[in-house]
Amino acid sequence: MSERFKYREDREAHNAARVRALEALLIKKGIITDRTVDTVLEYFETKMGPFNGAKIVARAWVDPDFKRRLIEDTPKAIAELDLPDGMAGAEGEHMRAVANAPGIHNLIICTLCSCYPWPVLGLPPYWYKDPTFRSRAAREPRAVLAEFGLPISEEVEVKVWDSSAQIRWFVVPERPAGTESLSEMELEALVTPEAMMGVAVAKAA
Ligand code: FE
Repeated sequence: MSERFKYREDREAHNAARVRALEALLIKKGIITDRTVDTVLEYFETKMGPFNGAKIVARAWVDPDFKRRLIEDTPKAIAELDLPDGMAGAEGEHMRAVANAPGIHNLIICTLCSCYPWPVLGLPPYWYKDPTFRSRAAREPRAVLAEFGLPISEEVEVKVWDSSAQIRWFVVPERPAGTESLSEMELEALVTPEAMMGVAVAKAA
């Protein structure tokens, strides 16, 4: 990815150093405490992350009625499941699911900035916020998907969904072939964040 979007080699170390400096400054100024950043990170590691999205998608795969409800009213359908408190907050109230199907592939982006369905996918990867990715994905989604290793055949329509403060999209990928005998929990393990963003598909293990 780094060569694709031309990031500096030491991007991770560079950003980590900037974050540490910024955190230290905010603590010094009394704006946050020395626990604040850890608390937020812990929240997105344990409560709000792609593990929630994987549960939702796996349920949609095994229950077509749930899938229909999920597409019709995403927050309402998600509320049926036993997921952490707060799914309706942290932008969860604006979530909408779109389903891949034979002949239709969906891709989510945010052309303006980085809008993303935090409760089901966690925090967005850095490339999602990259200006090059954002503009190219809108202009030439097939070329970008091919660079992600996902060439889409001409017969398949590619739909690009632009997230905003009002709507935060995520993709229900297609259930992989050959997974008929898997349990719902085993299916969850096949659902990646990338598949729920539409830059990959779900694959049988
Ligand atoms: Fe945004």
